Amino acid sequence: MDKSVIKFSHCNKDIYCFFVPEECPECGVSFSGRRLEDAPISIPNPFTNGHKVPCSFLVAPTEGTLLGDFDGGSDLHTGITNTKGVVYNYTKTGVRKDNIGWEKCISVPLVQPDMYNLLNQWDQYLEKFSSAEMWDPLCQKFDEEKHNCYNYTLAFINCVLAAQGKRSLSKEEFTQSFVVPRIKRASKYRMLCEEISQNYFYIVDSPLKEQDDANSE
Ligand SMILES: [Zn+2]
Repeated sequence: MDKSVIKFSHCNKDIYCFFVPEECPECGVSFSGRRLEDAPISIPNPFTNGHKVPCSFLVAPTEGTLLGDFDGGSDLHTGITNTKGVVYNYTKTGVRKDNIGWEKCISVPLVQPDMYNLLNQWDQYLEKFSSAEMWDPLCQKFDEEKHNCYNYTLAFINCVLAAQGKRSLSKEEFTQSFVVPRIKRASKYRMLCEEISQNYFYIVDSPLKEQDDANSE
């Protein structure tokens, strides 16, 4: 997972690998002394170290989880970072503040770098929000379905939106627009890494390129 995936195209195939080989694994043509028609591109790694992304929403997928099935349930753990990369997350024992353990996450930044007022107050907001009775295990019980880590993170995001005079997001809206696309990307990336680790290459048909009409006249 730490190597980066690159993609190049040859003989109408898209070929994913960790390094460009000396010959095309599909047709056997040698690349030595030649340039590929299109330069290989690197596929951005969707996983980040959650402790290095301040003021963000984090999803920490566990190894066995089917990322594609995520629907906002509690089988993935979610949290919010403060400005110093401490991850606030809600569990059965209340709100935890983790300094380690979120090194491989999917992150969604929640604050633009020029929102100084919000940045200045972020840590206080998060601290105050987390100490509310709602998240105190003595006052209200954790519930896998209705009162879990995802509800905690979304409720905080909606507090921040309200403080900015913006409307709140429903669970479905947030999940579909911010979480699912990133989870899909992460899921695909993980699949690519597994395939390449086992077979050196992952090869698929190139999507058809648009034909150049200039030649048809
Ligand atoms: Zn080829």
